[in-house]
Amino acid sequence: MPRRALYILCCMAVSSALMAQPKPPRPGFNLFSKDQDVQLGREAATEVEKQYTVVKDSQLNAYITRIGKKLAAQPEAGDYPYTFKVVSDDTINAFALPGGPTFINTGLIAAADNESQLAGVMAHEISHVALRHGTNQASKANLIQLPAMLAGNLAGKSLAGQLAQLGIGFGANSVLLKYSRNAERDADLLGTRILNGAGYNPVEMARFFEKLNAETGSTRTMQFFSSHPNPGNRVKAVEDLIQYLPPRKYSQGSASELARMKQIVAKLPKPPVKK
Ligand SMILES: [Zn+2]
Repeated sequence: MPRRALYILCCMAVSSALMAQPKPPRPGFNLFSKDQDVQLGREAATEVEKQYTVVKDSQLNAYITRIGKKLAAQPEAGDYPYTFKVVSDDTINAFALPGGPTFINTGLIAAADNESQLAGVMAHEISHVALRHGTNQASKANLIQLPAMLAGNLAGKSLAGQLAQLGIGFGANSVLLKYSRNAERDADLLGTRILNGAGYNPVEMARFFEKLNAETGSTRTMQFFSSHPNPGNRVKAVEDLIQYLPPRKYSQGSASELARMKQIVAKLPKPPVKK
């Protein structure tokens, strides 16, 4: 093949690879304003904190907050007032409410093999917040009454309370925090970008989810997949996307620090049995 033709072919290959660069997932249809996401999340968090035992250990909180802040500082996380709290619950789970309050079960800390896996689940949760999946689902669930209610929402009035009257609950076990497979895939893809930016290997997020999925039938992991259905091929989807992201030197975090956190978790009083 003549040199020039080869050169043109190469250019075409490079430019088509650039053109094929996938766009980040974006929030879908939503009747709520971003401020209403924040208000609703704060109100729902107050309820969650009554239902769960929030762990007060200062070392554990500092550890989770350090990881969370690094992730929340990535542009893809959006400008939400994220908070990170540990709850005493030995199922392997985490959840985030609209607008940013994020809760991490002690069971998740106990199960993570490294800091990247823990950060991976947190980045996935942050992505649900940034993509506004909770209020997106609420918007689709009640197209008729919501617009008037949201427009008439007065300062000082509980948004969560008004939504409850419409049959829309936003607590920890709310149907609105049970996501679709599409939402899961998007949270993985946005989470991949957040992790890459923060210097964590995004493949660890996908590996951890696949590890949980392999433990089928375990009551410790069932809760996670009942609210976050497995979209399948997670490792491959993450690996495909990483090729397009700026290359990073990944850090796995300190193994001894995570070990210390696991010791703290192991010594906590047994979580109360949920009714
Ligand atoms: Zn999810």
